[in-house]
Amino acid sequence: MIPDMTVLLIEDAPEIRRFLRTTLSPYGYRLYEATSGADGLAQASARNPDIILLDLGLPDMNGTAVIENIRAWSNMPIIVLSARDQEQVKVQAFDLGADDYVTKPFGVDELLARMRVALRHANRPIGDAVEPVCTFGDVTVDLGRRQVFVSGTEVHLTPIEYKLLTTLVRYAGKVVTHRQLLKEVWGPLHIEEAHYLRVYMRQLRNKIEADPAQPRHLVTELGVGYRLRAE
Ligand code: CA
Repeated sequence: MIPDMTVLLIEDAPEIRRFLRTTLSPYGYRLYEATSGADGLAQASARNPDIILLDLGLPDMNGTAVIENIRAWSNMPIIVLSARDQEQVKVQAFDLGADDYVTKPFGVDELLARMRVALRHANRPIGDAVEPVCTFGDVTVDLGRRQVFVSGTEVHLTPIEYKLLTTLVRYAGKVVTHRQLLKEVWGPLHIEEAHYLRVYMRQLRNKIEADPAQPRHLVTELGVGYRLRAE
C-alpha cells in the first residue's frame, strides 16, 4: 500500500473512470478525475498530482497536446492509456515526454506495476541516475568499470552496443522510443536511421540474451521502441 499518492486521471470514457475509481482506491491512491484536456491541465497545475493517467483521445484536444503543455513546466510522471490503433500518436506521446503506456483493455496488475516504476523514476534525485552496478537475470552491468557479464563471464561489447545497453539500463522498466535511442546513442543527426538500431539491437541480443529470438530483457515495444525488463 502506497499511502497518500495522488493520481490525476484525464479520461472522457465513464466506464474507464469507474473501473479505475474502484480499483485504485484500495491501493491507497487518491484519484482526481478530469474528463477533458482543458480540465486535466487545470487540475494538473492546481493539484500537482504524484502521477497522471492520460487518455490520448480526448473530446477537446489530443492527449499529446496535454503532455506537451505539462512538460513545459513539470516532470510529473505521465502514463498514457492508449487504444491499440493509436501507434503514431503513441510514439509522439513518448517523444513529447510520456513515461509509459498501457494499452486498453488493460489489467489492474499491469497498470499498478507501471505506476510503481514511473513513481520510482520520479522520486530519484536528479543526477543520481542508476546504481553503479545493475543486475537483471544472468546479466550484470558494471557502469563504473564499463564491464558487462553474463552468468559471471565477461562479454565484450562494442562502444555502440555498450551505449545502447546502458541507455536502456538508465531507463530500466520504461519504454525508450526509437528516436530517443538513436539520439542518445548515435546523436541528434541520426534520429531517422532506424535500421542502425535494428542491427545493433540484434547484435546486443546475441551477446546477452539466452535466447535472442525470444528476448527476456531487451524487449521490443512494437512500433514504439524498446524496454529493458529488469526483473
Ligand atoms: Ca477517449
